[in-house]
Amino acid sequence: MIVAGDAQQARRALAALPRPLGFVPTMGAIHAGHLALIEAARGRCRTVAVSVFVNPLQFGPGEDFERYPRDEAGDRRAIEEAGADLLYLPSPQNMYPPGFGTSIDVNGPAARYEGAARPTHFRGVATVVTKLLNAIAPDVLVLGQKDAQQTAVLRRLVRDLDLPVEVQIVPTAREHDGLARSSRNVYLSPQERAAAPSLYEALRATDAALRNGASSKAACDAGMLLLREPGRWQYLDVVDALTFEPIPHLRPPAFVIGSAVFGKTRLIDNLYYEGGADG
Ligand code: AMP
Repeated sequence: MIVAGDAQQARRALAALPRPLGFVPTMGAIHAGHLALIEAARGRCRTVAVSVFVNPLQFGPGEDFERYPRDEAGDRRAIEEAGADLLYLPSPQNMYPPGFGTSIDVNGPAARYEGAARPTHFRGVATVVTKLLNAIAPDVLVLGQKDAQQTAVLRRLVRDLDLPVEVQIVPTAREHDGLARSSRNVYLSPQERAAAPSLYEALRATDAALRNGASSKAACDAGMLLLREPGRWQYLDVVDALTFEPIPHLRPPAFVIGSAVFGKTRLIDNLYYEGGADG
């Protein structure tokens, strides 16, 4: 596996490797969810590039940038074992040189939910992903369904800026009890960890009610009851998969999205309803 520390090195190394090229951007602390993305990229691309960069721009003041789990040696090993051909490991100075002053704002799907709770988050995501796509120039950008709103924001970005890349979404990898895998799960205390799968149980109860014909509001009211202490709801809603606007009745492509706080840790999860050309 080639390791590149800046965009020029990455471009030079990738120019010699066969196409199509799949690209998996991550913030490291590699887990089975990331590995599923790398595997999906390998399944359809001859070359796979992975980036590890904890992007300061997508963390708000008071969020967990400083304590975000970092394990460069473990990540390198796991990414190499998963079969990646290139690991892009830019430094913060390299990514954001002194005087850096450009940002990408995606309106529409970034407005609500995670965008409302974390007002600068999607600007940071869109800016770094634009830079990463410029450095790697992949044919396929591989993203996890786990971050549903991020998939909508980045699809919008790709379409609005005519970026020559296809977006592939990979289903969420879960623990045995249903909890979506996340680098942030390590923050949970034993009591919080025991209650955390109830977020997924609530989504499934919402899904069952929707499939029985309930309105979004009635289905979410039913789902809300399942969250266990000390979980606190941030939101539970049914949204259009592309616009991330709430919809009164299930109309695919759509997501049921939920976010709940367990102690100091904010978790997100979702269920996806496929449908339509973009679904
Ligand atoms: P992160 O390192 O958390 O920024 O995530 C990097 C990529 O991995 C994003 O596209 C995420 O959506 C994806 N990802 C994170 N967790 C999971 C999971 N449990 N299942 C599938 N993809 C995931």
